Amino acid sequence: MNPAQLLLRYHAFVERERALRDQIERLESRLQSDPEVVTLEEALQEARSAQDAVAARLRDSDHTREDHRSRLRTREKELMSGRIRNPTELMQMSEEVAHMKARFAEEEDAELHLMEDAEAADEAVRVVVANLEEARTRSAAEEPALKEELEEAKAELAEIEAERDQLWAEVPPAAQAAYTRTRAQPPVARVVGNQCTACRVTVTSSGMQTLRKGLDDLVHCEHCGRILVLA
Ligand SMILES: [Zn+2]
Repeated sequence: MNPAQLLLRYHAFVERERALRDQIERLESRLQSDPEVVTLEEALQEARSAQDAVAARLRDSDHTREDHRSRLRTREKELMSGRIRNPTELMQMSEEVAHMKARFAEEEDAELHLMEDAEAADEAVRVVVANLEEARTRSAAEEPALKEELEEAKAELAEIEAERDQLWAEVPPAAQAAYTRTRAQPPVARVVGNQCTACRVTVTSSGMQTLRKGLDDLVHCEHCGRILVLA
């Protein structure tokens, strides 16, 4: 292999290494926490606080209703006791009792709605709990395969790194320097049909001649500056 071919192979190792590192990062992050489980845990927290809020409203409403009920009873007893004889006062009190009864009926209605809300909130929590359990089970079941995949990726990465370093040592220093200096990424490009495959510009005839000789001299694409390799 001439230096340009070595660099092409070297670059393939670099790309494989990058892909493996991405894969390792993805697997490690997934093993640390499953995004679906996290989302459901957050949903459960929300469902529980909604449940708590409606339960608190229900308790308040019970309290108020109890209070109004006992006041209504007291008033009714007074009204029926026969102690009040003044007709105006009697009329006033009877109106007051009627008003209290009407309000109490409204409160009963509101309480029924609240109870429905509370049931819906309980049901929402049950659904999220079931989904979360399912997601946790699935997530745990996936883990052995993911761990295996991670171990394989790590082993391959170690091999790739060793091969990459070994190959780099075979690249002549001038070609190493040219590779490092080249700004375009990837720094190496194949030539197919007299064209640089990276930028599609035709390679000069002198460049093609040098490439065909297959010597150690590197040929750069005149347009993009990449190191050219005859395919
Ligand atoms: Zn080019």
